[in-house]
Amino acid sequence: MSPARILDGKATAAAVRLEVAAEVARLRTAGLAPKLVVVLVGEDPASQVYVRNKDKAAQEAGFEVRTLRLPASATQAALESEVKALNADASVHGILVQLPLPKGLDADRIVRLLDPRKDVDGLHPENVAALVMGGNGLRPCTPAGCVELLDRHDFALEGRQVVVLGRSMLVGKPLALLALERNATVTVCHSRTRDLAEVCRNADVLVAAVGRPRLVRADWIRPGAVVLDVGINRLPDGKLCGDVDFAAASQVAGAITPVPGGLGPMTIAMLLSNTALAAARQAGLEKDSLLFRERR
Ligand code: NAP
Repeated sequence: MSPARILDGKATAAAVRLEVAAEVARLRTAGLAPKLVVVLVGEDPASQVYVRNKDKAAQEAGFEVRTLRLPASATQAALESEVKALNADASVHGILVQLPLPKGLDADRIVRLLDPRKDVDGLHPENVAALVMGGNGLRPCTPAGCVELLDRHDFALEGRQVVVLGRSMLVGKPLALLALERNATVTVCHSRTRDLAEVCRNADVLVAAVGRPRLVRADWIRPGAVVLDVGINRLPDGKLCGDVDFAAASQVAGAITPVPGGLGPMTIAMLLSNTALAAARQAGLEKDSLLFRERR
């Protein structure tokens, strides 16, 4: 097999971000200043990097951005009262609470407390229900980024065998639903799946969202398959790697995403997209949106 086409998430995300910037400019012309608030609790180093990247990308796209920092010692009540204040603040259109939260804080309660119209991570039960039922909610960013990346490389999911490794609420489950919405035939695998390698070999599109470095070997991949590697794992030498053995897999796959530079940048781009959509909807300006043609 010749080496796989590399699906460049960074370049594709840059294209999405340009379109979002144009939408933000349109909203500003209409008198709306779309605003994102990122809530960061504690000092987790990875979360700090993610929040800094989101903040920078949002500013570059023209959003108003605020990072609300709370100490790791913040109580559940204090965090809830901040979220309620952001829900009530009409100048705030998107709220992102960076997960995971420090020990002792109940993330599920916080997610449920968010105003679903401002839940730009797409995790509130109302947004999950919209995804399950085909409604008009906000979609979780990483799975939406996977579908967007395929769309922008003219890869249709209809009729394809999609195998998703991982069943989290953040990635695996919503991705399975998005693929189903696109008329794919979907298999979802997890830690109790038997004959994982064999199941993977059936995939036209294999998505790894597990959090195990290089779990997916080249001989799990059907020659020519599309491989989306969502995993972000830090190795002992400090380098990042995905859930797929990239060097070997790229000799077998038809197309593959790198780590870093794959779904990470796409996730941020979709967060910005969601924030623009949330702002437009809250202001009644969605009809003329430059984004989300198929979602209206
Ligand atoms: P998670 O909540 O820990 O879920 C991991 C899933 O993988 C679970 O469903 C688990 O099965 C399954 N699993 C674990 N070991 C397995 C094995 N040996 N074989 C098959 N399945 C196995 O993780 P997550 O939040 O979905 O994240 C997954 C990965 O994606 C992580 O590396 C994370 O850092 C990365 N991520 C990246 C982005 C991005 O922007 N690119 C965004 C989010 C997450 P059970 O359900 O049976 O336990």
